[in-house]
Amino acid sequence: EAAVAAAAAAFPEWAATTPQERASALLAFADRIEEHGDELAQIESRNVGKPISAMADEVWFAADNLRFFAGAARCLEGRATGEYMAGYTSMIRRDPLGVVASIAPWNYPFMMAAWKVGPALAAGNTVVLKPSELTPLSSLKLAEWTEDLFPPGVFNVVCGQGETAGAPLVADPRVALVSLTGDVATGKIIARTAADSLKRVHLELGGKAPVLVFDDADLEAVVAGIKVAGYANAGQDCTAACRVLAGPAIHDDLVNGLSDAARSLVVGDPSDESTELGPVVSAEQRERVEGMVERAREAGAEVVAGGARRDGAGFYYQPSVLAGVGQDAEIVQREVFGPVVTVQRFTDEETALEWANGVDYGLSASVWTRDVGRAMRVSAKLQFGTVWVNDHIPLVSEMPHGGFKQSGYGKDMSMYALEAYSEIKHVMVKW
Ligand code: NAD
Repeated sequence: EAAVAAAAAAFPEWAATTPQERASALLAFADRIEEHGDELAQIESRNVGKPISAMADEVWFAADNLRFFAGAARCLEGRATGEYMAGYTSMIRRDPLGVVASIAPWNYPFMMAAWKVGPALAAGNTVVLKPSELTPLSSLKLAEWTEDLFPPGVFNVVCGQGETAGAPLVADPRVALVSLTGDVATGKIIARTAADSLKRVHLELGGKAPVLVFDDADLEAVVAGIKVAGYANAGQDCTAACRVLAGPAIHDDLVNGLSDAARSLVVGDPSDESTELGPVVSAEQRERVEGMVERAREAGAEVVAGGARRDGAGFYYQPSVLAGVGQDAEIVQREVFGPVVTVQRFTDEETALEWANGVDYGLSASVWTRDVGRAMRVSAKLQFGTVWVNDHIPLVSEMPHGGFKQSGYGKDMSMYALEAYSEIKHVMVKW
């Protein structure tokens, strides 16, 4: 109540600032993130369990994202000014929406916060950010470190559970847009609730990224790519390279290569600089991963690497590779969100595409081949918001990130995000 009231009260003044003023505040926000980078890395690593070695990139990327939106705020323009009826001039304005509720997940807490807060503030909205109940600390610090950068009420953080702190934001008629990064089920609840007041909804939901590896692919590069993209953040990544579809000739070598790569990952204490893979976020999350692997095993999957808990002071799960899984298997159809990669053997391009697209999700995919024509043909047919060719996972602030199908709608990053956080207005002036 207090946060939404503060954001609503602050909106008119913030909406009236110039793009240059908002850009300056966002640039200073980015600087603060970098100034406090080490502390932020420590907090996030302890809160989520992610390796400290991964944090420098996250700090840099969050700051880069805010800097992109600082620049983008000054480039946002209406597309047309012209005389489309005799005696009238029409113009397009882009207006801010009002109060934006940003609801974030636990896997990249402050980076997701930055992705949401940046475009919302850049477009002239005020924000109430609700971090995940599992990982509130870095968001609270962001609020503390930026307190003097914005007029009171422009950037607010509220903590709490989804049902008690998130749901009231979604129901509140003073909130103009809800942006969620989270589970598909949560997205559906939010879209239903938001329908009552017809507020806008921006949904970045789960993923089940297919990795299409054709027989002519560079095996070494594929293995190295999946070693990073399949297991980064202990696989708790909506774009994780978790669902490998391998050509008939490369399949066996790939399974062997991936198994060796998984076993070679340095798993351990997240605070140790050499650690590549930490624990998953919670006991509940590990049970989910464990349950899915066990059910896959019972259904006939071959666990070629990992497949069990790992001892340690945390919710560790071994980096795992499962082969011989069927297209309809739960482990292929549902998001695991843990360090588990499955491999299926396809016979031809058509089957590869059918399986790749044969899930409810549509966030990201990759194609590995030396054949440019095939890369183009397959990219065009994949129903995913991002398709990488001969790589998997790199993101840039200038390009959109968002899903097809049940991975949601609305884009993060890029000018498209700025458009999503603003509204088109036609002003028609009679001469
Ligand atoms: P989650 O849906 O359980 O929670 C996300 C956020 O929603 C949390 O802040 C939670 O408190 C809140 N929430 C839960 N129920 C709510 C309700 N009824 N009303 C309002 N808010 C509610 O997801 P999670 O477990 O925190 O995150 C993991 C999920 O996020 C995975 O599915 C993952 O794929 C997805 N994710 C997607 C992207 C993307 O860009 N598409 C990025 C990261 C994570």
